[in-house]
Amino acid sequence: MKQAKRSFLVIGLGRFGESITKTLASFGHEVMAIDKDETKVNKLADLVTQAVQADATDEDVLKELGVSNLDEAVVAIGDDIQASILTTLILKDLGFKRIVAKATNDYHGRVLEKIGADVVIQPEKDMGVRVAHSILFGNFIDLIELSPDYSLVEVSASQAMKGKSLKELNLRAIYGCTVLAIKSKDEEKVNISPSADDVVKDGDVLVLVGTNRDLGMLEKELLDESHARKIR
Ligand code: ATP
Repeated sequence: MKQAKRSFLVIGLGRFGESITKTLASFGHEVMAIDKDETKVNKLADLVTQAVQADATDEDVLKELGVSNLDEAVVAIGDDIQASILTTLILKDLGFKRIVAKATNDYHGRVLEKIGADVVIQPEKDMGVRVAHSILFGNFIDLIELSPDYSLVEVSASQAMKGKSLKELNLRAIYGCTVLAIKSKDEEKVNISPSADDVVKDGDVLVLVGTNRDLGMLEKELLDESHARKIR
């Protein structure tokens, strides 16, 4: 499916900002990239709609650049906490629809949230959690942490599940996990809130919600033949 073109402002072109900028531009979106360091700006100049060397804490400069014409902003300044906060504040005042901001620690993150950042990211911390999840739950295709205790996961149907209805699988009673959706590989269809009689087919991906402990148990047993015995 073709995505509608969106417009972004990315401020701070360190490793994090550069990677975001390249990815957004590679999807064909409009991107204005700003950094006070000219070398970093030049490096991305050919990839983006506009690359500008400027100090983002200068509101007049941002206004002159017409950044308000863009919808969404990413503040990828990390180490200079004052500049990160001031820039986020200015962008909020300029009326950006959505601001994603990078924080270097929890206090920085809390301040960014308080002044109106819509999404606050701590790349090293967030990536550490993701890597730990992939070590612990290697069988899951994807995992979204809903709270410290609950997660949403995508898991490929195991051999033991195939050909069985959700009623027969009984995952809620056995593991305390609820199947929210079944994605079918062949038809690229998603069955939202499947019924108890829906049958799991070859290549299906199940979207499940549960506590991390219950999901961990389910994951372990998906690989284990004892699971096949349990669900019979
Ligand atoms: P990363 O970990 O993403 O590589 P970094 O540690 O290299 O980042 P940060 O201090 O987080 O650097 O800053 C990221 C970028 O933000 C740098 O390229 C820096 O030049 C830029 N930057 C910092 N302050 C401003 C500012 N006031 N205006 C524009 N750019 C800025």
